[in-house]
Amino acid sequence: MTHFACPSLPRALALSAGLLLGGVSLTQAQQTQYDSTDHRATEIYSPVPPVVTPAAKVGDPPSDAIVLFGGKNENEWVKVSDGTPADWIVDGDILTVNKNSGNIQTRRVFSNYQLHLEFRIPANITGSDQARGNSGLFLASTGKGDDGYELQILDNYKNTTYTNGQVGSIYKQSVPLANPSRPPGEWSSYDVVWIAPVFSADGTKLISPARVTVFLNGVLVQNNYELKGETRYIGQPYYHAHGPSPIKLQAHGDKSEPISFRNIWVRPL
Ligand code: MG
Repeated sequence: MTHFACPSLPRALALSAGLLLGGVSLTQAQQTQYDSTDHRATEIYSPVPPVVTPAAKVGDPPSDAIVLFGGKNENEWVKVSDGTPADWIVDGDILTVNKNSGNIQTRRVFSNYQLHLEFRIPANITGSDQARGNSGLFLASTGKGDDGYELQILDNYKNTTYTNGQVGSIYKQSVPLANPSRPPGEWSSYDVVWIAPVFSADGTKLISPARVTVFLNGVLVQNNYELKGETRYIGQPYYHAHGPSPIKLQAHGDKSEPISFRNIWVRPL
């Protein structure tokens, strides 16, 4: 008796699809020519991920990053209040909050991205609770003032406050998973993955909420958290439709000494 090797049903369908499509790529053809019991059937060769050269030093921008602040100038930033050039204090590779000037935001707008930022609470910080090194990283700035989604920046090294308002929190929404604060005077890092919310074309419906993953000093503090809406100081968060948005830094009105930033870069996803 003669036995004939028969293609599996998935393979047969794939081959048919390839014939019907006619213009099927070589890669697609390659992926359809193996039986599902063959290890090669599940191996992908194209498209090839882009080559990105990592920074020589951990935390520095890789080759495809947009540097939002790398020292020397704040050309990527404008005042939120009127869109004129930002006038926080630049000293070498350090950007310090100018509390008299107010919040600043990027000239560019973003949707989904990976972001790195470093901040330092000054060694001579004073104050307590929310009035001690308060700033904030607004993951999307949706209007004037503090409109948007705030990832809190605060000195919580031996300084307590409401837990959904401490550093690493999505302000008044999501308590951080840990408090890996460093003492004042030392640099801290945020590494963020932001997935922007999606709205219907007419802006009447939320298609998918925003999500965020955050590492503070290398420690996971927000794990793919699904936001309930924009940050509200009073009342519950809610969404209003918006498109690609700037990234904003907060000049908080408390009396404590201003904090500093350095090495801010972003990779749109
Ligand atoms: Mg804040």
